[in-house]
Amino acid sequence: MGQRHVDFFNRPLHDLRISVTDRCNFRCTYCMPKEIFGVDYPFMPPEHLLSFQEIERLATLFVQMGVRKIRLTGGEPLLRENLHLLIEKLVAIPGLEDIGLTTNGFYLERQAVQLKQSGLKRINVSFDALNDPVFKSMNNVGVGTKRILRGIKKAMDVGLEVKVNMVVKKGVNDQEVLPMAHFFKNLHVTLRFIEFMDVGQTNGWNLQQVVTGKEMVEHLASQFSLKPVMPSYKGEVAKRYQYEGTETEVGFITSVSQAFCADCTRGRIAADGKFYTCLFATDWYDLRELLRSQTSDDEIMAAIASIWKTRTDRYSETRSSQPEKNKGKIEMSYIGG
Ligand code: SAM
Ligand code: SF4
Ligand code: SF4
Repeated sequence: MGQRHVDFFNRPLHDLRISVTDRCNFRCTYCMPKEIFGVDYPFMPPEHLLSFQEIERLATLFVQMGVRKIRLTGGEPLLRENLHLLIEKLVAIPGLEDIGLTTNGFYLERQAVQLKQSGLKRINVSFDALNDPVFKSMNNVGVGTKRILRGIKKAMDVGLEVKVNMVVKKGVNDQEVLPMAHFFKNLHVTLRFIEFMDVGQTNGWNLQQVVTGKEMVEHLASQFSLKPVMPSYKGEVAKRYQYEGTETEVGFITSVSQAFCADCTRGRIAADGKFYTCLFATDWYDLRELLRSQTSDDEIMAAIASIWKTRTDRYSETRSSQPEKNKGKIEMSYIGG
């Protein structure tokens, strides 16, 4: 968690995460605890969501400003009706090099063909355990592993590139690290272990529940020969390794133990059009208001540029020294992972 002398005002805006809904059919304990996100939880009313036309317009402007990668997220993005129609629009944006989607996989078996046909090439499936009771306790709605595994298989069968994300919580699913590694290595699927993060204010996070990337690498090294892989671009968040003698990779996202704010090139748009310059931001800029008020493309781009240029975000590098900054943080299900 050491600090580096870097120019925090000079990080290009390269990646954009767009949340298409704040709703989810899971209640993962680390993201949307059931006690808070109960039946009465006030999710966004439909008229607050950006329409596909509005998302397409914003995405086009962001690409003109240098964004090369867009990831659709949520909430659970596959709950957004006709998502494939949005993907078709995004695929057609000149200059956009990569579109990804992060999903809990519940509707994947049903939607994989349509997603592939819309032009999507890759997806990340969040899947935290092979052990059924452990998985059920983490998603907290009783969904078993079989359904998600069928979704992953279907996605692979239709030709989508699949990566799996596993959030690791100490004492909850850390005993699943090795079985998950073996299982997905055999499937030739990249598995990425994610340190449990203090996003939002409701998931009861504490440092004792974090298994660090370093601990996980050491654990894996007891059973596998791992070869480090160079980052493929500046700002890549996962530390990547290859299982020796294979093409299969495994990654570690160490946002807590080894912050990467200095290279952070990622902006986020919530489903209601609020623009955040950091996963842990407490302030936002309302792009929906601009979209719905006859503002020109040039004016919108000027507004985005001025927000991004003055960005000083480095939450992960300062979380331990400034705990008071934790107040007012946005929930992961709202801002997208
Ligand atoms: N519902 C979709 C899913 O679960 O893939 C997309 C949205 S979810 C908020 C995006 C990613 O954030 C998932 O991979 C999830 O595991 C991760 N995530 C959520 N809460 C987290 C936390 N407290 N720490 C680390 N990762 C978290
Ligand atoms: Fe839903 Fe994804 Fe959050 Fe789990 S991590 S509660 S699936 S939004
Ligand atoms: Fe980027 Fe904020 Fe995460 Fe740092 S804490 S890597 S600035 S999103």
